Amino acid sequence: MDRDVHARRWLLAGGFIRTLVPYDDLEGIHARLSALGDVQTFGTSVEGRPLWVVRIGASSERRALVTGAIHGVEYIGTRAALVFAESLMERPLDAEVWVAPVLNPDGYARTWREGGAAPIASVRRNARGVDLNRNFPLPWSSRPGRMPFTGSTSPSAATYRGPAPLSEPEARALASLALRLEPRVAAGLHSFMGALIPARVTHLSDWRHYSQMTRAFREGHGGFPYLRLGSPVGDVFTGELEDWLHHVVRCWAVCIECFPVWASLLQGLRAPAPFWRFNPRDPSRWERRDAEGIRAMIEVGLDGARPPERAGAGACLEVW
Ligand SMILES: [Zn+2]
Repeated sequence: MDRDVHARRWLLAGGFIRTLVPYDDLEGIHARLSALGDVQTFGTSVEGRPLWVVRIGASSERRALVTGAIHGVEYIGTRAALVFAESLMERPLDAEVWVAPVLNPDGYARTWREGGAAPIASVRRNARGVDLNRNFPLPWSSRPGRMPFTGSTSPSAATYRGPAPLSEPEARALASLALRLEPRVAAGLHSFMGALIPARVTHLSDWRHYSQMTRAFREGHGGFPYLRLGSPVGDVFTGELEDWLHHVVRCWAVCIECFPVWASLLQGLRAPAPFWRFNPRDPSRWERRDAEGIRAMIEVGLDGARPPERAGAGACLEVW
């Protein structure tokens, strides 16, 4: 969409506090996906919105999965996923790439409807108030942690993990898709931190493999160096998608937190709406670099073998 159209929409909506231009609404995302290939629906959200995925590239055993907006407010992740997918039209990867840019369409739509002004907890989670990125089964039947970020049993918390693993239709649908595709590498796009968070692993060789992937991301990105977060010791499983993908699907999986904190602070110490803490006003400054980083990281992930099988990792509790 060109800048004039953005500007007109911006004026009609009374300024950026009430409109989220230059981002796309769900209709706009569908149009962009349709230009890339057949848009498939792999599930339905709590409020009945379709979960979209598009396949790019010839059929191959070398599969990659790129997801965005498992947290509804994190629009820059969706944008980076779309820009990465569009870049494959001109520079294909030797792989079958699946892109699902909005895993939480209800949160995404609510963010849009409220002009980004809704409290973060309400737009981060799905329509039943569950943090979808705390709703995946914990490998090795681990017990959930007690720190706030590890997920909460309180339905009012921003990280409410839900009544049981995979209790939510969006998480179930993604799990089914991943088990069917068996991707070898996955990138989950979030904001905001400017950081790379690979799945939690317990073996040094796996840790090192993720170091190669995160280094490749930084080199591909070429801008502000997104740091790797996590620790080989003391980390816990939280019900995040990446941990489940690594240990159960045996897929190299990295959460990418787009849009660094410092850039968010530079944009405004007091953002006019919570939305603008998470998302750059000018995504064009970030989306291409993020897309290049994703590409470089996926290439490294596809080149090696799958994560080695670890005894007992696939066992998961059915209740928390
Ligand atoms: Zn997130």
